Amino acid sequence: ALTIGIVGLPNVGKSTMFNALTKNNVLAANYPFATIEPNVGVVPLPDPRLKKLAEIFGSAAILPATVSFVDIAGIVKGASEGEGLGNKFLANIREADAICQVVRAFVDDDVHHVDGKVSPSSDLETINTELILADLQTLEKAVPRLEKEVKGKKTEKSVYEAALAAQKVLEEGKTLSSVGFDTSEIRELGLLTAKPFIYVFNVDESQLTDEVFQAEMQALVAPAEAIFLNAQLESEVAELDEDEAKELLESVGITEPGLEQLAHKGFNTLGLQTYLTAGPKETRAWTIGKGWTAPMAAGVIHTDFQKGFIKAEIISFDDLVECGSVAEARAKGKARMEGKDYVMQDGDVVEFRHS
Ligand code: GDP
Repeated sequence: ALTIGIVGLPNVGKSTMFNALTKNNVLAANYPFATIEPNVGVVPLPDPRLKKLAEIFGSAAILPATVSFVDIAGIVKGASEGEGLGNKFLANIREADAICQVVRAFVDDDVHHVDGKVSPSSDLETINTELILADLQTLEKAVPRLEKEVKGKKTEKSVYEAALAAQKVLEEGKTLSSVGFDTSEIRELGLLTAKPFIYVFNVDESQLTDEVFQAEMQALVAPAEAIFLNAQLESEVAELDEDEAKELLESVGITEPGLEQLAHKGFNTLGLQTYLTAGPKETRAWTIGKGWTAPMAAGVIHTDFQKGFIKAEIISFDDLVECGSVAEARAKGKARMEGKDYVMQDGDVVEFRHS
């Protein structure tokens, strides 16, 4: 499953947000999911289409796509010096597909700020600096080793050159993802700043609808995505049922809970989408990359489906809902037989034919 690591300075609201994510009443009531470890929460990707499909097919169960969130504590100013970032921290962050950096914007004198004042831009810089320093340490060790390996013809020169180029970007104080650095040659180094970043600004209620402020923050992190949420409010929302939650959110002027925005933007940032399968047993969403072909998508269900792929019967979700049943969709010519070159679209309802 897609894994998003949550990082940020102490006291910015990481745990509050993590708890809201993993103890959400509405999600828990609709989908079975679990907290595996204290700092890992598996959260379903909210998708209203699943319920509709389950009705059409009379499915006994709904299995949404999931996003795992890992609360990675341990970044403070100077964390990369001395002992370096802890091993557990590094292991957690290396496993993550994307990094969600939580930044404090809310003002509350009762909540201590590690630097004594609330400043989103300097917090961003502190965290980025620590991650950049950690990557520079990795490269300081790797570059001489790679140089030797190139001389001994054990490594391609292009790998060594990519490492040097990465080092240059980092020495300029930039994260690798912010300049779109292609790390495919040096993936084995597990550089932290090469991962896609999403920024969550934990804001005061008044800032939730403050477009000027939000544009300013968005500019700080561009081209990455920024999300604005109030972690405390999200944790209150998490304890309510669906209608009450909707009402509370509307009262502060937001339509989609921040945590759902986070799951959706996480998917987007990573270029992911879902396709759907449905039957009497279950309705299910499957995670694939954008641009994947039908056989690749089939392989997510089972490698045999990909190897023995013959064709896929595909009905788009909207067509299926309009027709009301597969039989009706077929009768109206809305069910398409697609071959191995078909590029999957988000929300395709699929049945694979395989040998
Ligand atoms: P962490 O160290 O980043 O995990 O931060 P916590 O989630 O433990 O939050 C630190 C403190 O800030 C706690 O007392 C929270 O109740 C408080 N807090 C978290 N989010 C908000 C918020 O949106 N507004 C206000 N006023 N306080 C918050």
